[in-house]
Amino acid sequence: MVHDARHTLSLKGNDYFVISHQNITERKLAENEVEKLSRLDGLTGIANRRSFDEFLESEWKRCKRLRIPISLALLDLDHFKLLNDTYGHQAGDECLKSIGRVLEKYSGRPSDICARYGGEEFAIVYGNTNLDQAKMIASKVLDEIRSLNIPNEKAPTSPTLTASIGLAEMHPSSENDESQLVKMSDDALYQAKESGRDKVSIHLDSSE
Ligand code: GH3
Ligand code: MG
Ligand code: MG
Repeated sequence: MVHDARHTLSLKGNDYFVISHQNITERKLAENEVEKLSRLDGLTGIANRRSFDEFLESEWKRCKRLRIPISLALLDLDHFKLLNDTYGHQAGDECLKSIGRVLEKYSGRPSDICARYGGEEFAIVYGNTNLDQAKMIASKVLDEIRSLNIPNEKAPTSPTLTASIGLAEMHPSSENDESQLVKMSDDALYQAKESGRDKVSIHLDSSE
């Protein structure tokens, strides 16, 4: 039950309508509802983490039913903190938008999704795609990011912006779940960073 107190407030000749909700739980529920409806990341316009999670769950189930593979790429920008420090946060934001556009270009099938996973980390799900196919696409993504030629002159690994990708493929079954796929891609991403960045590292499914 919500008891709204509505008043009209006059400030400098303008009328403001004030609603104060008395029931905080109801307000929280309403906020959650709004959040649920927002499926896109505000900066890049690609899917947000929430839609990514939902998509991965349903695509995983579909691939399990059809006994087909699913691949996941986790991408993290290299030395992005240095880019922000050198050219400013706004330049950093513009980069994130450009990266979003590149990822969209390489995730066009209905069984794919690219998403902003958080900060300067992105994810791409490739349903019905094996590791060899996913590897080819992931390499093209890195090529395209390199060819954007976005300056990052203080970065020790390259004077222009690069990214690292951790890639994994699984055959969904009753023995595994999608969180393992995320973990494998994340481990592979760590390897890509450790071994010099600007590369695709692969995690093979050891359970197969
Ligand atoms: P590494 O190669 O190891 O990934 O180094 P890194 O500098 O990219 O990683 P680190 O985690 O140290 O820094 C991530 C940076 O990403 C710091 C943070 O300010 C920046 N970042 C995260 N989200 C945003 C954003 O929305 N806009 C901008 N401009 N920068 C962001
Ligand atoms: Mg990061
Ligand atoms: Mg980074």
